[in-house]
Amino acid sequence: MVDDIRAATNQAPPLLDYNVVSADVALVEAVTRHASTDTVEQVAEIGAAAGSAEAREHGLLANRHEPRLTPYDRYGNRIDEVEFHPSWHWLLGRAVGHGLAATPWTQDDPHAHVRRAAGFMAWSHTEPGHGCPVSMTYAAVPALRTDDALAKEWTPKLASTSYEPGLRPVADKAGALAGMGMTEKQGGSDVRANVTTATATASDGEYTLDGHKWFTSAPMNDVFLVLAQATDGVTCFLVPRVLADGTRNRIDVVRLKDKLGNRSNASSELELRGTWAQRLGDEGRGIRTIIEMVAATRLDCVLGSTSLMRRALAEASWHVAHRSAFGGLLSEKPLMQNVIADLAVESEAATALAVRLAAAVDADNDPHETALRRIALPLAKYWICKRTPAMVAEALECLGGNGYVEESGMPLLFRESPLNSIWEGSGNVNALDVLRALSREPEALNAWIVEVGKASGGDPRLDRAIQHVLESLADASTLEVGARRLAGRMAACLQGALLVQHAPAPVSDAFCATRLGTEYGGTFGTLPAGDLQSIVERTTPQ
Ligand SMILES: Cc1cc2nc3c(=O)[nH]c(=O)nc-3n(C[C@H](O)[C@H](O)[C@H](O)COP(=O)(O)OP(=O)(O)OC[C@H]3O[C@@H](n4cnc5c(N)ncnc54)[C@H](O)[C@@H]3O)c2cc1C
Repeated sequence: MVDDIRAATNQAPPLLDYNVVSADVALVEAVTRHASTDTVEQVAEIGAAAGSAEAREHGLLANRHEPRLTPYDRYGNRIDEVEFHPSWHWLLGRAVGHGLAATPWTQDDPHAHVRRAAGFMAWSHTEPGHGCPVSMTYAAVPALRTDDALAKEWTPKLASTSYEPGLRPVADKAGALAGMGMTEKQGGSDVRANVTTATATASDGEYTLDGHKWFTSAPMNDVFLVLAQATDGVTCFLVPRVLADGTRNRIDVVRLKDKLGNRSNASSELELRGTWAQRLGDEGRGIRTIIEMVAATRLDCVLGSTSLMRRALAEASWHVAHRSAFGGLLSEKPLMQNVIADLAVESEAATALAVRLAAAVDADNDPHETALRRIALPLAKYWICKRTPAMVAEALECLGGNGYVEESGMPLLFRESPLNSIWEGSGNVNALDVLRALSREPEALNAWIVEVGKASGGDPRLDRAIQHVLESLADASTLEVGARRLAGRMAACLQGALLVQHAPAPVSDAFCATRLGTEYGGTFGTLPAGDLQSIVERTTPQ
């Protein structure tokens, strides 16, 4: 009798030691489409590592043992160091080693960015927090190109696959990581209101900065791109953590943020006093310069949210395939099939658009791809990041009470889920950026029209939705108040066009009915009846 009580029956086994890439059919198909089967094989190596029990354990530990600020050493010297659990270093070291930081910018591989994007999505299954320094390092390179000398000095270090933690001059390191300092107390979206000042020194291009930064993540990184007010206006600066002579640059870490999620990562408040900086780009052109970094991090927000969705869906579909209630497996109950299928459609749509965007980075010399990126990036950042919290919450519920318990890993995903929508331009800011692209860059709208037009005639609901978008653009007076609605519709049309062309009919049909047609039921699990079982089978890890 006692033995019966102790037995844990009808519990799903842990979803461990599986390949998160091979199990993700939508990702494999997208990478094959936009790159090659060789790329899939390379990414699958990362997928096997990301699904291992060892990696998952490090993910949990890095979040359980949070980073700690050590402002002073034992003698009272100011050191401003952040101490991380060894698991943080384990995860970050492997992410860099897999070439997920700035490596693709220096690779002679036509699919380097698709490879990296898929690898980043796969590796983020381990835990999402350490993706922050990885993303910022990836994103710094396009902005650094503004200055040949600085690009030459820093790009090889940022593109390195060597992870070398610790505060040392960059010349002494095989690899380096980058961060960004834009947000200040009085405002983050409106960076023109920055109050940090930059004073030119006697040396050409060198300045000292005075002021503060309200959010600067990963303060142990080696270099930061920082905005400050110079004589001619907001200017971008390169700020190394350690100076060439080995002394530490004056960057006071005031405190670490006590955040909802993303707890493995350190996000700090900084004070800058006479901090040494090198100008990156012209004075007054700071936003123009750093926008290159922002654009690349926006792609990573899309990738990060897509990864969160897929991880949550994998856990949900796995659980219901192993848990029974009312005399049968949950995965065989029609209503649960509807929920899983609906989540799968969302995840597949996000995956298709995310990989399509990464392919546009690979094809940067093609004007259509550049114009498409200009509009599709804020569209995807707005839409995919905004869909994620609701999607992850629903996936969590598929595990019932077990999903609400920390050990399941689902609370970590849920706490992380709103973040990608906040940083690098919150929801409204990205929706308004879509309007800016539409009004100032006609080639961006043309690129969207060409892209969605590739699926023309494939589904009448998609054709009608595209028509509605184009008609709604005619009324300029309602554009700003309706920016979210427009951005959501345009993003869903892009996703619909990709699914109509490339996904199995049950997936694209369910998407078009509920995201583009009139059958949206207000929550997940409200797809019209159809071949939901095939969608569930496609998405469930075997
Ligand atoms: C965990 C974490 C880490 C971060 N790390 C960094 C970092 O490393 N470096 C860095 O520079 N920043 C970082 N940030 C800051 C982040 O980028 C900002 O919080 C974000 O850009 C929003 O700025 P804000 O907080 O000042 O909000 P605000 O700019 O005050 O915006 C508040 C709200 O108003 C909306 N809004 C703004 N303008 C308009 C408008 N014109 N019309 C309608 N609505 C509008 C926004 O969408 C938002 O919802 C981090 C934030 C978090 C949470």
